[in-house]
Amino acid sequence: MESSNINLVPISLLKKHKQKISSNSEKVFSEELVIEKIKKIVKEENIYLISHYYTDPKIQKITEELNGCVSDSLQMAKAGSTSDSETIVVSGVKFMGETAKILSPEKRIIMPTLEATCSLDLGCPADDFKKFCESYPDREIVVYANTSAEVKALADWVVTSSIALEVVDYLDAKGKKILWAPDKHLGSYIRNQTKADMIMWDGACVVHEEFKHEGLKKLIKLHPDAEILVHPESPSSVVELADCVGSTSQLINYANSSISKKFVVATDKGIFYQLLKNNPEKEFYEAPTAGNGATCNSCSMCPWMGMNSIMNLYDAVKNKTNEISLDEAIMKKARISLDRMVNFK
Ligand code: SF4
Repeated sequence: MESSNINLVPISLLKKHKQKISSNSEKVFSEELVIEKIKKIVKEENIYLISHYYTDPKIQKITEELNGCVSDSLQMAKAGSTSDSETIVVSGVKFMGETAKILSPEKRIIMPTLEATCSLDLGCPADDFKKFCESYPDREIVVYANTSAEVKALADWVVTSSIALEVVDYLDAKGKKILWAPDKHLGSYIRNQTKADMIMWDGACVVHEEFKHEGLKKLIKLHPDAEILVHPESPSSVVELADCVGSTSQLINYANSSISKKFVVATDKGIFYQLLKNNPEKEFYEAPTAGNGATCNSCSMCPWMGMNSIMNLYDAVKNKTNEISLDEAIMKKARISLDRMVNFK
């Protein structure tokens, strides 16, 4: 099975976005003023903000100051349904807004932009995935949260990186064979850990795929006392050098509780805001993406997460733009696999 377009970063779309953001900024006085306006509207209208660890630190900070939720995708999914607000603004990528909508269909779910997607989602179109599933009718279909609502509707289980290992282990113990999609690196990591019988879709994250084994080894030589934190969407040659492999929240918790003073981190740069805020006395280094095999995408920054800005967050809370709307039948089906994820103990 070939993945489609996994390395297709929509540069023209990013440029268009940047132009839109800068022309908007000229119309409004200053970023500080815009932030004050966001806070005022959110409080007056009881809007609940949910933001991912990879978004702009300024967005994470506003979300925290307004008692919103800054977290990984699993906590983001849970937070929307437990909030009493009728309007929720999700800063992140589109599947996160869709998940919030499926779990809280009665609420208005808004995003700073609907153009922010994910290479895993783009690389796993529902029609192709349906055919893939039909070729393996005896397998339990487990999909990563980074997929469209249509793909989730085809699945038995949805998982995030924080519970993927446990869910596959649980299914394997029940004697189930797994069809896994879309991230091949996360899938391989889980298969190595659990020894489960897994068939994989061939997808990858454009950000994590860029971390390089050789570069990381050189950095470890320079900092032999550092612990290495790696997200499992990274290639296995990078994962094998890790002291901790985990989801964003697991990496943050590890750094918070470790006695080490130095860390090298292989995941999106956005996570550094939380790492440094919680551990001002510790040192954090970015895992290298440059060197042999590096591409122009090598910057440890998700281009889609980067589409969330203070300006389009302001636009979203003020004008209620970019509301998530999904087909009822798709939502109903996707809810079954998502509920399994949320309720998994
Ligand atoms: S960092 Fe990778 S997995 Fe996460 S949203 Fe961006 S492209 Fe998708």
